[in-house]
This record gives sequence, C-alpha cells and structure tokens, in this order.
Amino acid sequence: MQTEATETLETTAATTTWNRNHPYPATVTENRLLTGPASEKETRHIEIDLADSGIQYLPGDSAGILPQNTCQAVEEVLRRLQFTGDEPVTDFYGKPTSLREALTSWLMIGKLSSSTLRQWATITAHPDLTALVQPGNKDKLDAYLWGREFLDLLDHAPAKLDTAQLLFKLLPRLAPRLYSISSSQALHPDAIHLSVRVVKYESFGRSRWGVCSGQIGERTPPGGTLPIFIHSNQLFRLPPDPAVPVIMIGPGTGIAPFRAFLEHKQAGVGQWPMWLFFGDQRASQDFLYEDELIRATKNGLLQRLDTAFSRDQAFKIYVQDRIRENSAELWRWLDQGAYFYVCGDSKRMAPDVEAALLQAVAEHSGKGPEYAQEFLAGMKKQKRYLRDVY
Ligand SMILES: Cc1cc2nc3c(=O)[nH]c(=O)nc-3n(C[C@H](O)[C@H](O)[C@H](O)COP(=O)(O)OP(=O)(O)OC[C@H]3O[C@@H](n4cnc5c(N)ncnc54)[C@H](O)[C@@H]3O)c2cc1C
Repeated sequence: MQTEATETLETTAATTTWNRNHPYPATVTENRLLTGPASEKETRHIEIDLADSGIQYLPGDSAGILPQNTCQAVEEVLRRLQFTGDEPVTDFYGKPTSLREALTSWLMIGKLSSSTLRQWATITAHPDLTALVQPGNKDKLDAYLWGREFLDLLDHAPAKLDTAQLLFKLLPRLAPRLYSISSSQALHPDAIHLSVRVVKYESFGRSRWGVCSGQIGERTPPGGTLPIFIHSNQLFRLPPDPAVPVIMIGPGTGIAPFRAFLEHKQAGVGQWPMWLFFGDQRASQDFLYEDELIRATKNGLLQRLDTAFSRDQAFKIYVQDRIRENSAELWRWLDQGAYFYVCGDSKRMAPDVEAALLQAVAEHSGKGPEYAQEFLAGMKKQKRYLRDVY
C-alpha cells in the first residue's frame, strides 16, 4: 500500500533539472560538529538550503557534491611544474579554460592514481617508479599510492611537461562524491541534511584532508555554497507498505539514511516499526545524533535502539555482536517480513553483519546454514535485504 505522501514525493522526485554536469549552487545554513572534542573522528551535521531549486528527493537518495581542489594545492602543483596557471587549455568537453581553473575544478590532484604513476614513470624514467610499475609489483605499487597526492609524486620525481594540456591525459577527472541524505523532505521541504565524516590524516610529513569532505566540513561555513545534485537510489527505499517493519544497521556515518527514514515516519508518511543498530568507537564522543535517537525511542518513533561502542570496554563490541545477542528477536522480525537495511563501511562491517544475519536465521529458524543461505537469497529477490555501503 502506498500513502499519498509517498506517491507525491515519488512522482516528483526525478523532475529536477540539476545534475552532475549542472549542479545547483546550494547555500549551507548549518555546519555543526556531531562528534565530541576527544573523538578520533570529526563528523559534521550539514544543512543545505534548497531555496527555489525545485530539487526533490526521497529517503535513501544521496547528494552528489562536486569538490574543488584547494588554492594552495593548485599553486604548489603549478610551481613544481613551472607553469603560471594562465596557460590556455581545453576541458574534457573541449571548452577553453585556464590551467589554474582546470587544476581547481576538473583534475584530481588530491589522490594519486596508478594510471598517473605509470605515465609519470614513462615521462621521467625515474628508477624507483620504473621498478614500481613492473608486472608482479602490484602490492608495492598500491602501498606507494596509499596516502600520496600528485604533489608527492612531483617531489619524488620532478619533471617539466611540454604542454599544460598534457595534464588532462595524465590526471583523472575530479569526480563528485556522494553523501547519503540524512533528512526527509516530508519534514524539511526546503533543505537537505548530510552527516559527513571529514577525512583527515597525516602522511609523508603533511597534514591532509579529503578533497570533498574537507571542503564540506572545513572550508564551507554557513553562508558558503556547495554545488549539489541528487543521486536517486531506487534500491534503498522504505517498504512501500507502511506497516512493514524495518531493521536498520547504520554504524558511523551509516546512520545518515536511517535518520531520514525516522524523519519520514515522524512526518506521518508511514507507521513502519523500526529497529536501529548504531555503533562507533565511544559513546561519550561518537554517539551521532544521540539526543534525537534517545527521544525517538522514548516517543515511540523507534521501537528498538541497540548500540555498540567498540572502545568502551576491554574487548571490542560491534553492531554484528549486538545482532548476535539479539538474534532470536531479529529472527521474529525477519519472519514477519521485516526489511533489512545496511549502510556504512563496505570492507569489514557489511560482510560481518551478513555473517551475523545468516547465523541468526540458521539458528532460530531451526533449519540450519543451508536454509539461511536460501532465506537470504529470497530476501534479496524480494528486495528486502538492501545495502548502501561504501
Ligand atoms: C553511496 C555513498 C554514500 C556515502 N555516504 C556518505 C555519508 O553519508 N557520509 C560520509 O562522510 N561519507 C559518505 N560517503 C563517502 C564519501 O562519498 C567520500 O568517499 C568521502 O567523504 C571521502 O571523500 P573525500 O573527497 O573527502 O576524500 P578523498 O580526497 O577522496 O580522499 C580519500 C582518500 O584519502 C586516502 N586516505 C584516507 N585516509 C587515509 C589515511 N589514514 N592514510 C593514508 N591515506 C588515507 C585514501 O587514498 C582515500 O581513498 C558515501 C559514499 C557513497 C559511495
């Protein structure tokens, strides 16, 4: 069954004219720290004004943001390559621009790709690089690339290029980054909320920021603008029947789409019984949206909230451990047709959660591991095992 509110939003969601080649310059209205001062992470709540853009979105969608490289990084690349920045070049669409603008908005210099390294090895014939690109050296090559930028390569093996245009062959295109939307438009008609972890690290003697998360979190205070577009995700929607229960596994920034789900319910779009598993390092520092989630539990919006804070005790506890502890109840929800959503880390969390899910089904259905695999395959077919992992 579909409610009127979902129908209205669904039919209008795709009508916007803004896209990755023509993003909307949205004004940031709020940029607030979600993590505590002693956290090892910096995660921020961002609010963006949609004004008269006509942009429409649904819970489960992401916002695409087109980042720009910092002036400082661009000037350092120009200096090392002995260009002024005023050299005329043509962009990927054949449109004339300056090298400075190209390095700011079109070319990826904040992360070193293997293709750049391979081409630079040929251009410079530097023995270290030549050795790295030999067949069978993939592990060493990957280790070299990790944490390095184009600038580091220029420091290691300096060289000049014959023409500025060559950089368009050498460097990959600066791609937009996606961020799960953490608000419901049913509650905030003119806004998009995001939950962004600012990527920050030290490597090879330099402090670094992720190109896009650094731009959103550190370089765009309220009043600043971000070029955005909607990346629709039809495969991560709330159940069309608003009475079907949902189980949401969203540690870290994986919480974002589930905050949107909760807001959608709060706006009265559906009754979905909701069970959320949230996790991070420490409750005192990393419990994102703690007040909102506790309130949602008290006022009956959220039927269950289970948290796992890995560093709050001598041994690590993760969301998958909480799933195991609650596996009998989890099976009861699944057996009633609950949808199972996972958002966040794709490398470790998502496979571990799947293993815990399979174990719960195998044990509590009483039919063993083979049946659990069949049950999961059935859930995938019915589109009620949904993942948005990155
Ligand atoms: C569908 C989807 C939804 C997403 N939703 C969210 C969300 O809601 N919130 C969110 O915060 N993110 C989300 N992301 C991730 C987001 O899109 C970006 O990938 C993330 O913000 C990093 O982009 P960046 O430009 O800041 O970093 P980049 O400039 O791309 O830098 C990241 C790179 O830095 C290097 N690096 C990172 N850490 C280290 C280290 N410690 N040592 C050495 N090198 C390192 C690595 O090469 C890494 O690939 C989502 C991604 C997808 C695909």
